[in-house]
Amino acid sequence: MSEDIHYTYLDWAATTPLCAEAKEAMEPYLVVGEQGLVKGANANSLHSYGRNAFLALEEARKLLAKSLGLKREDELIFTSSATESNNSALFGIVSACKKQATQAGKRDFVPHIITTEIEHDSVLAAARALGAKACELSFLKPDRQGFIEARLLAAALRENTVLVSIQSANNEIGSIQPLEQLVAIAHDAGAYFHTDAVQAFGKVNLNLKELGVDAASISAHKIGGPKGIGALYLKNTTPFTPYMLGGGQETNRRSGTQNVCGAAAFAAAASASLASLDTEQLRLRKLRDYLYERCLGIEAVSPVVSVEPGSQDFLPHIVNLSVQGFESETLILRLDMRGFAVSGGSACSTNSLEPSHVLSAIGLSRDAAYGSVRISMGKSTQEKDIDAFIEALAESIY
Ligand code: PLP
Repeated sequence: MSEDIHYTYLDWAATTPLCAEAKEAMEPYLVVGEQGLVKGANANSLHSYGRNAFLALEEARKLLAKSLGLKREDELIFTSSATESNNSALFGIVSACKKQATQAGKRDFVPHIITTEIEHDSVLAAARALGAKACELSFLKPDRQGFIEARLLAAALRENTVLVSIQSANNEIGSIQPLEQLVAIAHDAGAYFHTDAVQAFGKVNLNLKELGVDAASISAHKIGGPKGIGALYLKNTTPFTPYMLGGGQETNRRSGTQNVCGAAAFAAAASASLASLDTEQLRLRKLRDYLYERCLGIEAVSPVVSVEPGSQDFLPHIVNLSVQGFESETLILRLDMRGFAVSGGSACSTNSLEPSHVLSAIGLSRDAAYGSVRISMGKSTQEKDIDAFIEALAESIY
C-alpha cells in the first residue's frame, strides 16, 4: 500500500468494515473491566459472570430477531458464519425430513431438494454433498437477468420434494428473487423453504415472518458486524436435526461455546443498518444508477444485467460490469494499483480459471464473463468515489 494513493473501497459485498455501533458493543467483552470484571465469560458457566454473558447473548438474540421481523427470538440460532448457517439448514432440514419419513414407515424415502444455479457456493456445495448421499437434486436456471421464474419452481416440485433453497438476492449481480411467490408455491407442494438472505439483510426490507420462509441464513460481516458470526432462522415448525454436535448449546441446535461478543456486535450492526435502511437504500440506489449511467461513456464497458434507473428488483449496492478484451484479474490489479478495491466475476477466490457460475448461469458469453468486475458500495461511498472509479477504470483499459 502506497502513501500517495487515496484508497476507495468498493468491495462491500465481500465484507464491510466494522461499524461504530458494532465496535462499541464489542469492546466490553474483549477486555477485563473495572474491578476485574470479565464480561466475556462463557455464557454456559454457572457463576454470575456466565449468567451475565448469557443475558447479554439473549438480549442480542432478541434485538437481532426484531431486525428480521421475528416475534420469537428462540427461532434464531447463532452460528459462526452464513456458510455454516447454509450448511446447517440444508443438512439439518433434509436429514430431519428423512428421519420423519422413516418413522412414518417410508424406509426407502429419497428426499428431493430444489435449489438454483446461482446460489452461493456454501449452498451449492452442501446440496451437491447431499446429492451424493441418496438425495435427488434439481437446480433451477435463472433468466438472463438472474431471476428465478415461479413456473420453473412449480414444474420442478415433486411428491418427495422436502426442501427448496433459493437466495433472497444474488451477491454478484444483485437480482432480488420474488420470494413471496416462490415460498407460496413450495408450501403448496408441502416443501420447506430456506433462503440465503446474506446480501439482502440490512440492504433492502426483509421481514422473514411476512415472507413466510421456514429457514434463513444471515451473516454479520456483510452489514458492519465482525467476521466469524452468523445466524440461522429456524421457524418453530421447521424440522431440524442438528448439524454441529457437542455440548448442546443453542437449545441443542448448534453446539459450541457461543460468541457473545460477536452476537452483541451483530445485533448492534443490524439495528444500526435498519435504522438507516430507508435513506441508505435510496442513496445507494442513486449511486448504483449513476455508476451504470457513467459507465456508458466507456466504449468497452457494458453492464452485465439491465438495471432500470430506480429499479427495486436489484440490490441497491451491487453493480456488475463487463469489460471487453480484458480479464477481470488484470482489471482488479490495475484498479488496485490506483487505490480501488473491487471483485472479479471469475472465481478468483478459488484460483479457478473458470468464469463465475452465476454469470455462466445467466447465459453471459465466456468472454464477457471473464472480463467482469463487481463494484459494491456501502456507507462511506460517495458520488465522487464513483467519478474517481470511472476515471480509473477508463485509464486501466487504455
Ligand atoms: N451467501 C452469500 C449470498 C454470500 O454473499 C456469502 C459471502 O460472500 C455467504 C453466503 C457466506 O457468508 P460467510 O462469509 O458469513 O460465510
